[in-house]
Amino acid sequence: MTPSEDDLRDAVISLKSAHPELGIGKIHSLLLGINPGWIVSEKRTRKALQNEGLILQSSADLSSKSQPKSPHVFPSSKLIQNLDVSRYSTKIEVRHFNKKKGKGLVATEKIAKGEPVWKEDPYVVAAEWEIYDLQNLGQACSFCTTPFSSTTTTSLLTSCASSTSSSFCPARFCNRLCRDRSARTHPLLCPSQNPASVPLMKWARETQWVALHALAYMTTRVMILCQDPKVADEEWRIATSYATLSMEDRSKQGFQKAEPDHEAWRKAFSLYMQAFKEPSSVLEQKKLARIIKKPVKAEISQGLFQYDAFLRNLGKMNLNLEAHGGLYVLHSHLNHSCDPNISIRHLEQRSALSRITAIATKDIEPGEELFITYVNPMLPVHSRQEELRGWGFGKCSCSRCLEEEKHIKDNDDDNKDRPSMLDMTDLEKEIKAGLGVM
Ligand SMILES: [Zn+2]
Ligand SMILES: [Zn+2]
Ligand SMILES: [Zn+2]
Repeated sequence: MTPSEDDLRDAVISLKSAHPELGIGKIHSLLLGINPGWIVSEKRTRKALQNEGLILQSSADLSSKSQPKSPHVFPSSKLIQNLDVSRYSTKIEVRHFNKKKGKGLVATEKIAKGEPVWKEDPYVVAAEWEIYDLQNLGQACSFCTTPFSSTTTTSLLTSCASSTSSSFCPARFCNRLCRDRSARTHPLLCPSQNPASVPLMKWARETQWVALHALAYMTTRVMILCQDPKVADEEWRIATSYATLSMEDRSKQGFQKAEPDHEAWRKAFSLYMQAFKEPSSVLEQKKLARIIKKPVKAEISQGLFQYDAFLRNLGKMNLNLEAHGGLYVLHSHLNHSCDPNISIRHLEQRSALSRITAIATKDIEPGEELFITYVNPMLPVHSRQEELRGWGFGKCSCSRCLEEEKHIKDNDDDNKDRPSMLDMTDLEKEIKAGLGVM
């Protein structure tokens, strides 16, 4: 029989939410497996998934005239079930807006300008290159990224326990606490414990490929924590909840941001597999097996080690990384506005550099959404829009963009290349005020 639209929709929603990592083909076969009497073409399954915003439109669909709807590919994200926001702040909540916009943070109580709204340690931190180089020299903490300085208590500094003269690891930590906490990422990136990861990390550093570097950290966390069946499901839920836009989709859309090409992705993938799944030498395989003792669950293994999943995960890193290289659970829920009301600061420079504090830069009323800016707010409106498109976001329709675009429309055509209207009017005001005109 042919299922109704509603039945099909409900079925694909439940399948895709239970198996977010599966592509159209696999969802389709699962669908037919569960409903053996159904007659549904793969095309119809694809359409149902697209209608629900559960997959991105393929470039073929975009070019076809029969699909005029939705010219933009939007990053997809899902809510983390049971995310306890009150652990961070009692004044905000996570809200799901709609499939296009996804999730965001909304104030539940008044927040005053200047108020720290929450503090957060990273889910994983892939240090900026400058700090990463210090880590490799043993001059910054390999866990919390804090550089060691003259004020560091050197008696507390702790080295990697696996480092020996014959198989050296340069990692050092602020203290035992940082070393203990690094147990969820360090072993797989340690040159002594998992030498197979060295070529990957070296190449990411050489090419300065931030997303690849960050993905290595995310992978190690997922693989290590998922060894514990008690936390595996929750851990994987968090890892898959970050907004996604695969590198393939970005490239199909012709996003202008300079990205490594297909050949580089292939090379990255082979180094990645070598580092975490199939080391090339027997000795390295043995070392990896000493850290990852139990086989990684099939679902997680597919979500990491299939090529399309790998590309999707790289895209995920690109979209969600904080400016200094960390991936943060609550921070990743913040949407963009060119006129933000939240600023992210690294206030604990000497003790916990990677910890972020979200500070209100304006009074925020209950019900108002919290925003950060993903782009340099000093850029003129067209450049901001272009940069956002480059990251896979649709047209920004924040109040500032709308106002500035209206302003441009209202003005002559020869004003097109002028910088941001907001900046200009501010500048004009200042000049006029300085001249005593106002
Ligand atoms: Zn530390
Ligand atoms: Zn080590
Ligand atoms: Zn805007």
